[in-house]
Amino acid sequence: MDKTSFFQGRKVVIATKHKKESVIGPALEKAFGMEYVTTDKLDTDLFGTFSGEIERTEIPVEAARHKCILGLGVCQVDLAIGSEGSFGPHPDFFFLPAGEEILVLMDRKNDLEIKVKLLSPKTNFSSLTITAETNVADFLTHAQFPSHGLILRKSANDISLIEKAIHDEKQLKDRINWFLQNFGTCYLETDMRAMHNPSRMQAIAELTEKLIVKMNHCCPKCHTPGFSITDVLRGLICSNCAMPTHSIQSFIYTCSKCNYTTLEINPGLKKMEDPMFCDYCNP
Ligand SMILES: [Zn+2]
Ligand SMILES: [Zn+2]
Repeated sequence: MDKTSFFQGRKVVIATKHKKESVIGPALEKAFGMEYVTTDKLDTDLFGTFSGEIERTEIPVEAARHKCILGLGVCQVDLAIGSEGSFGPHPDFFFLPAGEEILVLMDRKNDLEIKVKLLSPKTNFSSLTITAETNVADFLTHAQFPSHGLILRKSANDISLIEKAIHDEKQLKDRINWFLQNFGTCYLETDMRAMHNPSRMQAIAELTEKLIVKMNHCCPKCHTPGFSITDVLRGLICSNCAMPTHSIQSFIYTCSKCNYTTLEINPGLKKMEDPMFCDYCNP
């Protein structure tokens, strides 16, 4: 089967209510001639919101999957995209914040699911407890306010009074003063909803390109799209002693449909390892 026939000209629901379709949709339209729809009947906030009104219980990929299922049901189509972002300490550099974006493509017609992930330190994710003594200037710079929105509430654990999508300096100042007069403190945090966060939109746009590459990469045996790296093979040979090192020698690709597996030497990888990384030459 021709790879384009899987997705060409199909109708897809982009299961989001935070305007993510504005970056995902046109890219799919261009790549596959797809028609995209959204619906306001998607209450994706049921899966958790960033500001804590609803606790996030599902792991992000499950949440993205559920959004797909919801979208498929509401829109009566057989193709859906769900998206999910999560923010917190970077898994490798815990002193840095990181954002992880996930996209899941669910294809009911071909019984197929394609997932892509992007971990990026380019996030403004942060929060600040404010009292009368707090200087908020540095926080505002880091948060990229006012292009990126802010959320203000009484305290980190209190959502009884909450104001979202603040993009205006005067409004922010007035509201902080109101909180300080009434409670002596307040809690300011970045609004991570995509339409209030251009950094997130940018990451979702990048991730959409990654998804398109994966949708175009088909299994050499059964031609199912989504043929992708599932593991790595280590043991790159040392250029000095010819013993295997711990470095990556090749990538293992597996088809999710027929389980066909192949080893591909990535053109970007070295053919031999520097003796510096060899346990024998440089113990
Ligand atoms: Zn296959
Ligand atoms: Zn060596």
